[in-house]
Amino acid sequence: MKTRALYEMDSYLDELESTVTVVDTDQGRPYALLAQTIFHPESGGQPGDRGWIADTRVADVRIQEGEVRHYLEQPIGTGPVKMRLDWDRRFDLMQQHTGQHLLTAVAQDRFRWATTAFHLGEEKCDIELDVPQLGPEDLQRLEAAVMAEVRAAHPVTAWKVPPETAAALNVRSRGLPAGHEGDVRLVEIAGLDINTCGGTHLRNTSELESIKLIETERMRGGTRLYFVAGSRVRRRLGLHESRLGQIRSLLGVPDGRLSEALSDRLEQLRQAARREKQIREEAAPMLAEALAARREADVHAHFESADLPFLQRLARLAAELAPAKSVLLTGGADPSGFFVLSLSENKADKINQIGSRVAEILQGRGGGGGSLFQGKAESVSKAEEALAFLRQGDG
Ligand SMILES: [Zn+2]
Repeated sequence: MKTRALYEMDSYLDELESTVTVVDTDQGRPYALLAQTIFHPESGGQPGDRGWIADTRVADVRIQEGEVRHYLEQPIGTGPVKMRLDWDRRFDLMQQHTGQHLLTAVAQDRFRWATTAFHLGEEKCDIELDVPQLGPEDLQRLEAAVMAEVRAAHPVTAWKVPPETAAALNVRSRGLPAGHEGDVRLVEIAGLDINTCGGTHLRNTSELESIKLIETERMRGGTRLYFVAGSRVRRRLGLHESRLGQIRSLLGVPDGRLSEALSDRLEQLRQAARREKQIREEAAPMLAEALAARREADVHAHFESADLPFLQRLARLAAELAPAKSVLLTGGADPSGFFVLSLSENKADKINQIGSRVAEILQGRGGGGGSLFQGKAESVSKAEEALAFLRQGDG
C-alpha cells in the first residue's frame, strides 16, 4: 500500500495519527512505512524532515524503491502511532525553499537572470544564476525587488493537474524527473510564478519575513548567489551583533573604526615580529660565542621562542667557532618542538646515523642536510638524555 503524502496537501500539518504498516532495516538502519505521512522526504534540494514517530526520533526521510522510508533511531513495531514534526526546522526549510521560488521568479522576470540550480544549506542557501557576474548594485536592486514582493503578501498555493494541462499553462520548470507518471504538482505564487515542485511551501510570501542576499561567488558558467530567508535573517543578525560586540570590546573602539583599528594592530604585530627577528639576528654571534666558550665538549641550549632558521644559523656559527664541539639546539614550547644538531669535526661523517638516534631519543624525526641534522621533536625535555648519548660516543 502506497503512503499518502499529506505534506503535499497541507504543509502546515505538524502532527498526525497514522499507522505503521511495515518495519524493516536498510543496511542495519531501522525504518518504518506508514499509511499516511506528514514527513517530507529529501528531494528537489530540500532536506528530509526530522521529528518523532511514537517518541522515537526520525533521523531522516528518503524515497527508496518508490517508498517514503522514515529512518528511525530505534526500531518500532507496527500499528497505530502518533507522528510529530520538528516544526521549527520544517518551517525554516519552508522559508528558505519558498524564498528560493520567489528569488528565482524575480531574477528571471525582472532581470533575465535564469536560475540553474538551488542548494539549501544548514547556514545559508544559494542559487546558481546563468550570468557571468553580479556587482553590489545588482544585488541591491534584486533584493529590493524581491522584498517588494514579500511585502505584497502574495498567496502561495499548490495543486495537481494532468501533464497536458501543465503543458498549456505558463509553467516555469526544469523538467519533470525521468520516469515521472501521472499528475504534475504545481506551486503558484499568485501573480508571479507557476512552477512544478513537490516540496513544502509557505502559504503567503509575507511569511518569508525578509530575504537577505549575502554574497556572490563566481563559478564556471555563472554566479552563485548566497541568501538567507525568514528567521535565519534575524538569527544571523543576532550572531553578527554578538561577534561584533566581542570584537568591539577587544579593540575598544566603536563599530565605525573597527576595520581601521584592526588594521593598525596587525601592522603593529608585523613591526614587532620584524624587530624581534632583528634582535635575534644581532644576538646570534654573541650566543654562538657563549656556546663555544662552554667547557663541556658537547653542549645543549634551548630557545623557546626561536624558529628553525635561527637555530640553524646559531649551530653553524658555533661550529665555526668551536669545531671540536657537538652542539644540540632545541626550540619551541615544551614538550613538543624542533631541534638542530651539529657534530664535532671528528664525527661529522656520521651525522645521519647519530642524528637519527638523537631524533629517536627526542621522540621525533628528522633528516640531515650538509653538516646539520634537524627535525621535529615530541619531547624536547629529553635533550639532556640526547646530550648524554653524544658524550657516550666521545668516550
Ligand atoms: Zn518548491
